[in-house]
Amino acid sequence: GTTEMWKEFDKSKVYMVDLESGLHYLLRVELASHQTLEGEELKTFKDFATVVAKLFPGRPSVVKLLETLLEWLVSLPLERIPYDAILDLVNNKMSISGMYLSDRLQWVGCQGSRPELRGYPCSLWTLFHTLTVQAALRPDALANTGLEDDPLAVLQTMRRYIGTFFGCQECGRHFEEMAKESLSQVRSLDQAVLWLWSRHNQVNNRLSGALSEDPRFPKTQWPTPDLCPACHEEKDGLHVWNEERVLSFLKQHYASPNISPRYTS
Ligand code: FAD
Repeated sequence: GTTEMWKEFDKSKVYMVDLESGLHYLLRVELASHQTLEGEELKTFKDFATVVAKLFPGRPSVVKLLETLLEWLVSLPLERIPYDAILDLVNNKMSISGMYLSDRLQWVGCQGSRPELRGYPCSLWTLFHTLTVQAALRPDALANTGLEDDPLAVLQTMRRYIGTFFGCQECGRHFEEMAKESLSQVRSLDQAVLWLWSRHNQVNNRLSGALSEDPRFPKTQWPTPDLCPACHEEKDGLHVWNEERVLSFLKQHYASPNISPRYTS
């Protein structure tokens, strides 16, 4: 909130506290507007749970919670799951199970200059970049889940999550348009990383100067030259991306060694 102090952070790092706050918000707030999950919604949530349980590069207590959630969803023969049952599991006490997800909303790399700016949407982008990069770095992680062998699995899961659960419906429509237009051209896990990067820049471009922009965090074409000089080139006087360098940069930026545990409790 507004009474909290500004937290110093490094733009060249990803913060675990943003990812965990995002998961907390997703599981305990966003999902709560759906009283029961069934049909396509349930399938979408199960796939989402699979992707995060297998790919989230988190602290052991959080990974344990995500794995337990997935095992529970997979083992249940139910066609409808009440949201309260999911919440009970997510709120399970650490002392019993060793699993735990903090219920503090705390933004660091995603903090805004006002409470309504940045925060959760920023953390969701961060989460999905992290997951596409993890999938590319660990191609076997989704083995035996039904999502293996498809380089599009993580992006399709994200697309369905955004379309079904993301509170910003206008965002969902825009994202669906982009997905329809070009997602099918993605042929590899590396291309999936680059697809999400380039579409995110397309969104940044569209939102530049919009009311939702935090003046302290102007929308840019990312990574800016200070973060990755080699990503930028000039051809015939025009700016072009060096996509090979961008890919290496993304695989470094969103990988475990660059995810800072600072501010986690
Ligand atoms: P964000 O855009 O949220 O980015 C978070 C962080 O990711 C940045 O701080 C940076 O470190 C990194 N980053 C930035 N660009 C890239 C990139 N290209 N590749 C990899 N990493 C990058 N808002 C609307 O008003 N209208 C919309 O239609 C809309 N659509 C959205 C669709 C989706 C799927 C999502 C998740 C969000 C959408 N939003 C939309 C919200 C909007 O995109 C921003 O998340 C929000 O305005 C907060 O912006 P931010 O400055 O925190 O940076």
